[in-house]
Amino acid sequence: MAGIAAAAPSAAPGQELTLVRLKYTVDTSNPDQRNDWNAKDFAHVLENVSALLRRTVSIQASPEPKVLTLEDPALASYPFLFMAGHFGVVLNQAETQWLRRHLTRGGFLLATACCGNPSFVRSFEREMKKVFPEAPLKTLPREHLVYRSLYEIDSVACLSGADSTRPSRNQSLLQGIEYDGHLVVVFSPKALTCGWAQNGNCIPSCERVAPEDARKLAANIVVFALTH
Ligand SMILES: [Zn+2]
Repeated sequence: MAGIAAAAPSAAPGQELTLVRLKYTVDTSNPDQRNDWNAKDFAHVLENVSALLRRTVSIQASPEPKVLTLEDPALASYPFLFMAGHFGVVLNQAETQWLRRHLTRGGFLLATACCGNPSFVRSFEREMKKVFPEAPLKTLPREHLVYRSLYEIDSVACLSGADSTRPSRNQSLLQGIEYDGHLVVVFSPKALTCGWAQNGNCIPSCERVAPEDARKLAANIVVFALTH
């Protein structure tokens, strides 16, 4: 059984972590899909993650995550960025440069495909090649510290379809980009959001991380990002 690997770190006194949801352009001709960066099925998951961090890791995570665009000058004050979606993300040249600048100056990006949607997976891989042409997304080996930074996670429980009772185990779920020896992007092609948002049930085509492991991964990834 996965246990807690290390003493839970605390943020420095008075220091607050505010998670940021990136508002990005959605690659779609369908006007109903243009708010996919903030789709209603995951609109409040960062509040859940912030509450989880306060409860389990003693990180003073703000109960009110922010929404920012990549060109917003305020972005520099918020290292931890999050993005998710079902459809396609598209970054223009300026956004590509702003994101690279953020991530090469100590920032961190966690991204996930809602319901494991292949359109988002493909578009995220494509856009990250523009941001880091020299450093492709790579599968993080199961020994990677991100699986050990708080909870020991030997394999990630994943769920397919509406059934939430028979998880499969995945030992190489997460992908990442390293820049200058630092992990600066973590991507889960199976949905973390669906695990954070619900009690294990989703639409019939959903490919997601089971809720308990989705929560453990969130804590591990944030702790890793804050301590490396
Ligand atoms: Zn789902």
